[in-house]
Amino acid sequence: QAKEEGRGKYLFYRSHLTDQAQERQFLEGELRKALEQGELFLNYQPQVDLADGRLVGSEALLRWRHPERGIIPPDKFIPIAEETSLITQLGEWALRAACRQAMEWMRKGLGLHRIAVNISGVQIERSDLVGLVADVLVETGLPSKFLELEITETYVMRQAQKNVKVLDGLRSCGVSLAIDDFGTGQSSLAYLKRLPVNKLKIDRSFVSDLPSGENEAAITRAIVALGHSLHLKVLAEGIETAAQAEFLKGLGCEEAQGFLFSRPLDAAGMEALLTQHGAPAPLTQLLPRTGP
Ligand code: C2E
Ligand code: MG
Ligand code: MG
Ligand code: MG
Repeated sequence: QAKEEGRGKYLFYRSHLTDQAQERQFLEGELRKALEQGELFLNYQPQVDLADGRLVGSEALLRWRHPERGIIPPDKFIPIAEETSLITQLGEWALRAACRQAMEWMRKGLGLHRIAVNISGVQIERSDLVGLVADVLVETGLPSKFLELEITETYVMRQAQKNVKVLDGLRSCGVSLAIDDFGTGQSSLAYLKRLPVNKLKIDRSFVSDLPSGENEAAITRAIVALGHSLHLKVLAEGIETAAQAEFLKGLGCEEAQGFLFSRPLDAAGMEALLTQHGAPAPLTQLLPRTGP
């Protein structure tokens, strides 16, 4: 009896794995076609100055509109793209599309201050990222100071020494660098000090339990202090409540991003926002609301 059960479980486990493997294989095949068939597009999430609610930039977030499956979120396909090196092409597409879009908004006189683009560690490892960034800047005409690249802490710390050269090269192009999902990796302080980065983005897993979570509050306070002691700007991700915004503002955290201010918007939505508010006027609508 027990043996039968065990066997059943084993079979179930096997077929479950097979489903997953099949799904992966399916998505990988589809992803190869997605680029050519124009199924990828970007969303833009506003980033604000916490002190006055002003729009200071936006982060470009990759989306995939599959003809049958509908919109597939990046968490589903980026890991697959990273395993197959397809990420190099996807990342290149995202960088070019984001810079082109930002430049178009600038040409229209919509004062977007900065566009942030996510970069996978695989792109640093297996492609000429510095060459690509330099090319895209020339090609789109976007002034380099408007481009920020986000690299996750886990990757940056794992690769140590080898990365510094690439990051230095990127800084030489005039772009700024942010460490994404900060607090989730194992940062060596000695190493962090030597990295040519401009900003830390506090991971939203800490922000979501603020202000009542004591551990999260302590960690967040420490990250802001660490960032400032290294002369880095600090941005808090995933702010959903006014209380979280107030808490972080109180710590001296400079910038924020999250559903409280705005969800990621499609290009038309972002353009409408820019048109309506035309930076550098403060985006009062994006300020945390108090009361009903
Ligand atoms: P990320 O770079 O940390 O991006 C922030 C994610 O948090 C986005 O998810 C955003 O929609 C979500 N978010 C923002 N504010 C809130 C909030 O207030 N509450 C909650 N619950 N979530 C919030 P998204 O768009 O699903 O992207 C997930 C991840 O996929 C990104 O995390 C990034 O690591 C990766 N990704 C997205 N686009 C690209 C890309 O072009 N290249 C690479 N390499 N990775 C990308
Ligand atoms: Mg990011
Ligand atoms: Mg992040
Ligand atoms: Mg993330």
